[in-house]
Amino acid sequence: MSKSWAKGSTRAWRRTRAQVLARDGHRCQLKLPGCTTVATHVHHVRGKQHGDDEAYLVASCEHCNLSTGDVSGHDPAPEPRTRW
Ligand SMILES: [Zn+2]
Repeated sequence: MSKSWAKGSTRAWRRTRAQVLARDGHRCQLKLPGCTTVATHVHHVRGKQHGDDEAYLVASCEHCNLSTGDVSGHDPAPEPRTRW
């Protein structure tokens, strides 16, 4: 396992994320049920083993990104979830 995964947002990640969002036109590419279409997150389509390669990143709305269970740790602190 690589320890290169920095916790939290890094400058490089923020830049990568901005590039991916721009590439995808700030539109969610996952389009899951309940999608808000407005991408503010970037989703790792193949999980994190590929790193922050743009080829494996897609723009995603918060809803879809969280729905896929991709807890990347890149985005702002996860909010406590309340089950109901
Ligand atoms: Zn979405």
